[in-house]
Parts: sequence; structure tokens; C-alpha cells
Amino acid sequence: MNRRTVLGAAGSLAVGTITVATAVVRSRSDDAFVSAARNGPPADDVVTEQLLPDTVHETPIYTIEAPADGATVMVFGGVHGDEYNGIEVSHEVTEWRPNAGTLVVVPETDRVAVENERREGVDGDLNRHFPIDEEPTTELARGIWDAVERYDPDVVLDLHRSLGIFDLHQRYVGQALFHSADAPAKEIVASLNDVVPWYMPAHRFVAEPSTHPSPLLFKKAAHELGSTAYLFETTSFMLDQEAKNTFTRAATARVLARHGMLEVSMEVER
Ligand SMILES: [Zn+2]
Repeated sequence: MNRRTVLGAAGSLAVGTITVATAVVRSRSDDAFVSAARNGPPADDVVTEQLLPDTVHETPIYTIEAPADGATVMVFGGVHGDEYNGIEVSHEVTEWRPNAGTLVVVPETDRVAVENERREGVDGDLNRHFPIDEEPTTELARGIWDAVERYDPDVVLDLHRSLGIFDLHQRYVGQALFHSADAPAKEIVASLNDVVPWYMPAHRFVAEPSTHPSPLLFKKAAHELGSTAYLFETTSFMLDQEAKNTFTRAATARVLARHGMLEVSMEVER
């Protein structure tokens, strides 16, 4: 790929029109963190239950018990039904085998939105239905919140995709890890940036503290349950689906590693 072409495209600030071939991004899919997540020890137990059974929202929750004690981490995909990186990667995560802790995965959180390939489900944008210190405002949000309270996760990771890049394109929030105040997000992002090709400087991830109360699932978990909470955003800007998945997979594995679930350390990799 011609470097001038890539930088020129980034400089144009156009959103949604250019996709750069991302062979280099793909080549990093053998990332040590992802390998550790995929190739850990057999789980003690893998359980599937249905969220909101016998409703239009019915969707599986997978629980993977690692052989050793550790943190409970909940990963959500498909809170927005057309953000395929989160859906596809969280389906992959149901096959991951952490060394320690309990991994709880909901790949298609807003099942109706996922089936319709739309951002919003029957009641609109699911990620606006979780007011702080109040009951969630829809049946689906209440069902999800019941599950979150039941699992009482140490860590919540919600996987998303934006159209542009945070601080480069107005209104867009891509290539950012939003996080609760207690999260070691800078360290995670520093490691994640090892996966970003050198010729895509605009795509380097940033860690953004997100402590202002608003009705998002990860914020409610942070405020009410004291979970360390993250909302991950990659971008469609210049990235094909495989590149978005690569970043999403890499971010998820790093969150698990940083919270003690995987036997790979940030120091070794960096
Ligand atoms: Zn989203």
C-alpha cells in the first residue's frame, strides 16, 4: 500500500467512503493475547442460559468457568444490532478458555436489532435505557440488568463500532476505550496500539474516562455495582470488517489479561 494514499485519505476527514485494505492489521491476528485466550486450559464448566426466554428478546448468555478462581468479566456484543465486530467477536469469545475467573458473554444482546441488522431494536437504542439509580426503562433493559446484578461482574466490557474517529471526526467516537475511573485503560490502550499499523496514526486508540452519569449499560454497572467498566469503539472509517474484528478481538483479550484471566502480561508483550 502507498503511504501517501493512506495519509491523504485520513486527511480528507471523509467518513464512510474509503476502505483501506488492511493486510497488516490482519497479520497481527496471531497476537499473543488472543492466542492465550484461545489456547487456555479446558474450562471447568461452560453453561448456556437464555435471557428473557419465550420473548422476542430471548438470547443466550454463555458462562465459562476457568479452572482457577478469578474475576467475573461480562462481555456484551450486539447492544447495537448492526455493529458486527462486537457480535462476531463475542461469538468467538464463547470459545475462549481463560486461565482464571468466570467469563460471561452475551453476543447478541439486542436480539431483535441483530436479526434486523439495525442499530435499534423494538424500543429504540438499547444503550439509552439504563438510567443511573433508576429501574431500566424497557423489558429488554430490565432483563439484561437483572442478569448483570445476578452475575455481579467485577468487569463489564461492551463492544461497539462508530463511523468516524474520536477527536478527528465530529460526533464520532471510534478507536477509543471509554472507561470508569478505576479502569487501567491507559495500559490496555498502550498494548492495543501495538496492533495498529504504523501508517495509520489516526487509528491509534485513546483511553477516555467516562464518568458523567448517562443511561448507558457500562455506566450503570460502574455506578451501581462498582464494576470496572469499559465501552470499546472501533470505527468503520477506512477499516474493513476483518480489521474491525481484529481490533475488537485484541481489545477484549487485553481486558481479560489485565484483569487476571489470561497468562500473558502486558510487560512481556510491550
Ligand atoms: Zn454502538
